[in-house]
Formats: sequence, C-alpha cells, structure tokens
Amino acid sequence: MKYLDKTDPQVARLVAREMKRQSETLDLIPSENIASKSVMEALGSSLTNKYSEGYPAKRYYAGNAVIDAVELLAQERARKVFRLGKEWGVNVQALSGAPANMAAYFALLKPGDKFMALQLTSGGHLTHGDPVNFSGRLFRPIHYNVTKKGVIDYAMVRSLARRERPKLILAGYTAYPRTIDFAKFKSIAKEVKAYFMVDMAHIAGLVAAGVHPSPFPYADVVTTTTHKSLRGPRGALIFSRRDRMIKVGAKEISLARAIDRSVFPGLQGGPHDNQTAAIAVALKEAATPAFTRYGVQIVKNAKALAAALNGMGYELVSGGTDNHLILIDVTNKGVTGRVAQDRLEEAGIVVNRNTVPYEPRSPFDPSGIRIGTPSLTTRGMKEREMRQVASLMDRAIREEGISKVRKEVLSLCRKFPVQ
Ligand SMILES: *Cc1c(COP(=O)(O)O)cnc(C)c1O
Repeated sequence: MKYLDKTDPQVARLVAREMKRQSETLDLIPSENIASKSVMEALGSSLTNKYSEGYPAKRYYAGNAVIDAVELLAQERARKVFRLGKEWGVNVQALSGAPANMAAYFALLKPGDKFMALQLTSGGHLTHGDPVNFSGRLFRPIHYNVTKKGVIDYAMVRSLARRERPKLILAGYTAYPRTIDFAKFKSIAKEVKAYFMVDMAHIAGLVAAGVHPSPFPYADVVTTTTHKSLRGPRGALIFSRRDRMIKVGAKEISLARAIDRSVFPGLQGGPHDNQTAAIAVALKEAATPAFTRYGVQIVKNAKALAAALNGMGYELVSGGTDNHLILIDVTNKGVTGRVAQDRLEEAGIVVNRNTVPYEPRSPFDPSGIRIGTPSLTTRGMKEREMRQVASLMDRAIREEGISKVRKEVLSLCRKFPVQ
C-alpha cells in the first residue's frame, strides 16, 4: 500500500497478513463475502472527512451538497435493486445490522413491548431477543421455533401470536437454510394486528437476484446488512412504508419518518458518508445481470455442497438447503462443532461452529457448524469445486492427513484468486 507501507509499516504488515490469509484459505462463513475494489475505493475516499448529521436537504452542517447527492443515489439504487416504488422509504445511515434492528425496534416498540422472533439456538440473531443483548433487555421477546425437522413451525408461530399478541413479528435469520414463507407470516401478523418486520441480512443478495422470494410485498419494515450476500461494504439499509402511519405522542407520522427519526437523532450522530458511497457502488453492482447470475450460482453451489456432504453421511439440519447456507450436525462423526471448526481451520477451511435446533450442548461448544457459499462463489467456483470442497472438509474433519488437505486447499485457492 502506497502510503501505509511508509507511515505505518506495523499496520501495513497486519493488513498484508490478513489479505494473505483471505487469499490462501477457503471462506465458508455464510455471512462473509469479498467486496469489489470499487467498493473499497469508495470506502477509502475523502468522504470519510465529512460531517452530515441529518438527512438530504435537512443537514445540521454546511457543505453537504455532494453528500446529499450520494445519499439520494444510494436510496434510489436500493429501490431499484429490490424493485420498489416510492411508497418505500430507504434509510442508508444505520452503521451496521445490529444498529439497524435497534432503530427499527425503537421506532415500532416501547420498552417492555412484546415482539416475536425465532429461537436463537435455532437460527435467530443476537438482536432478536438474546437476554444479553439490548433487544432482550429492553423488550419482551417471545420465541417461536422450528419443527424437529428443522423448518419454521408456522402453526406454532400462529398459536403463539394468538396467545401472546405481540406488537411485532420478526422473520429473517442468521442460520436458517430454507426459504421463508413471508406470506404466511404476514397473514399471522395481520390476524393479531402486529407489525411484520423482516431482517433479510443473510439473504439480501439472493432477494436482489430473485432466487429467494421478496419480503417487500408483505413487510412493514425490512432491515438488511450490506456486507453479506449483497457483497457491499459493512453497513445496513432499513426499508419502511411511507404509506403506513404510526402514532408518536399525539401525532401520526409515517413508518418511514419514524425510522429516520429513530436512526437520527434517536440513536446515531453523523452518518459514515464514505460507507454510504460504497453502499451505492455495491447496489449498482447488484442491479446487473452478472449479479443475478451470481445469486443463482450461490444457490446451485450450496445445493451441490449439501448433496456431496449428504452423500458422505453428514447430517444436514432440515436435510439440505434452499439458499446460500448449510447447517451440519457433526456429532454423528464423533466430533463437536468446535473440534470440526478447529480441524477445518488447520486445513485452511474457515467455518464457524453453530448451535443446531434443540441444541443439547452449549452455544460455546455446540453440536454443529454453519457453512455457506457466497464467498467461494464470488471467487468463481462452481458445482465441481463444491464437490471437491466437500471431500476436503470430510478428510479434515476425519483428521485424514491434514497437511496434505492444506496443500490441496492452497492449490484450489490459487486457481480461484480473491480479486
Ligand atoms: C449479521 C446479522 C445482523 C447483524 O449485523 P451486524 O452488521 O453484524 O451488526 C442482524 N441480523 C441478522 C439476521 C444477521 O444475520
């Protein structure tokens, strides 16, 4: 790096080491991806120097004409990628997925209000009501679950909703390998007069590519990260209806306005304008036919990987996958999720250990691992490589010559470089 190498070789070396690690390992963490060089350039641009508290044309600082244009462009591109009309407001300022969810809850709920979300050990996110997270401390989460087969138990969602009358029902997960039936959720939310919120952080890229049904015909609010399958910089988007009203004190305002107010001044100060520009760049990329092909390939790759692992006796939660993600209970192979994660890492295959539904062990030392294909698909790998990856994984988990597996992983990485 031109400047860093000279002024701060210590950090430059660390960055170089991380780049080397990324290029010499197979990243199967389903929430990770590889942002383009264009995204990185926008992220590293002089937009990082600006303060722009407020919203376009309503800033608290001078000098924001360019920033206004950047923010409006990001909003317009977000609508285009997800095929939305002007009835959807788009907030591009939430700093990441967790603060985006926080902003949505604070707009729709009061402290102590009930909301419904998926059980965390079955694939829900920390911000969906974990007792150690703000979401579980300030609000009252009611958790629905998956069936023993590992798919959302919609009958349970309905009966819990009828009994508990939550103010908000949340769908969208962090470790769920199947298609979500948003229409069913909507009909339940409507029946109990709850808001319906979708957190599509993991599947946003698939929704953009049209390989997962869109939540937009059904939801009141949709949050997403921009750095997972959407392949942008770290960041978030919050979509909310402009034509649905909410009472704030004595006044009625639109959901979109309530969300904007919740982000700023409710939770944050100045937005990260360099990040907004990088999100705009990623959204332009996501609107291309190449990105649609990318989304299609992510799912094909996940299905190929799942089929190969299945064939080698791995127990997949729900039996397979419809999306980018696979959850494997590895205990029938005589290892825990942690042991599998460590052996795989030694071989240069990076995964994360994960709980499985009805987890008999602990979140820190769970029964499973979670894998996904967004990153390998960005590198250009296809079904053939997925079969090879499955076999490399199996040999590493069985500790069958890990150093040989490591060499084969390296040679696969060299054939599909990180751009
Ligand atoms: C990743 C994720 C988040 C949080 O995003 P951060 O950017 O890590 O704060 C929220 N919800 C879901 C479903 C996620 O998968």
